[in-house]
Amino acid sequence: MHIQENIQQIKTLINTSCIQANRKIDEVKLLAVSKTKPVTDILQAYQTGQTAFGENYVQEGVEKIQYFQAQKIHLEWHFIGPLQSNKTRLVAEYFDWVESLDRLKIAERLSQQRPTYLSPLQVLIQVNIDNEITKSGIPSDQLIPFAQQINDLPNLQLRGLMTIPAETQDTHQQKQTFEHMLQLFRQLQQQCPEKNIDTLSMGMSNDMQQAILCGSTQIRVGSAIFGSRS
Ligand SMILES: *Cc1c(COP(=O)(O)O)cnc(C)c1O
Repeated sequence: MHIQENIQQIKTLINTSCIQANRKIDEVKLLAVSKTKPVTDILQAYQTGQTAFGENYVQEGVEKIQYFQAQKIHLEWHFIGPLQSNKTRLVAEYFDWVESLDRLKIAERLSQQRPTYLSPLQVLIQVNIDNEITKSGIPSDQLIPFAQQINDLPNLQLRGLMTIPAETQDTHQQKQTFEHMLQLFRQLQQQCPEKNIDTLSMGMSNDMQQAILCGSTQIRVGSAIFGSRS
């Protein structure tokens, strides 16, 4: 697997898409989604300068974080998977970001369990933008009241929104969904002017270009970097 070339190609895609959309190149951050992949793959990505990684499973993520802490390699870890209440403590103790927040109870536990020697946990609210029954995330019409509850928690810092749209190859459909997310993001920024709401996490291997054209500030890319997951 050519991890380093893949990252270079994605960086180029970010640059060309930003230029196309009249956006600044440094507005879009790349999160390398390393779930199911070994630490040797993460090291290869790190050697290109990549420092932000996403993990979906608590135990697997914590093992990788501990490995790099022991090596004194400082990386930024984002938890992006579904989170159950019995796993919140490990996430609060090890991760820097949680992108999949959609339940108040989980948010409260994360805030309580965040160690005081760490900075606040950076969080994104996951929005179920296509109202899929099987998908995590809160419905868009509950976003603002939910965000207000999150803002009241002392050890969490709300930074924005994350979404996983319904799968489609239809670029028109992709665009509509991403534009809807951008609207919600702007609404959230207006609602919380005193907060630093700066992150709109949308776009994965199959739709990253469209997401950047529609205002994404962070793409989460797994298979296009590390190859398919078996
Ligand atoms: C696995 C995963 C990704 C990466 O998906 P790819 O299609 O492999 O790029 C992004 N976001 C979330 C939440 C994921 O679970």
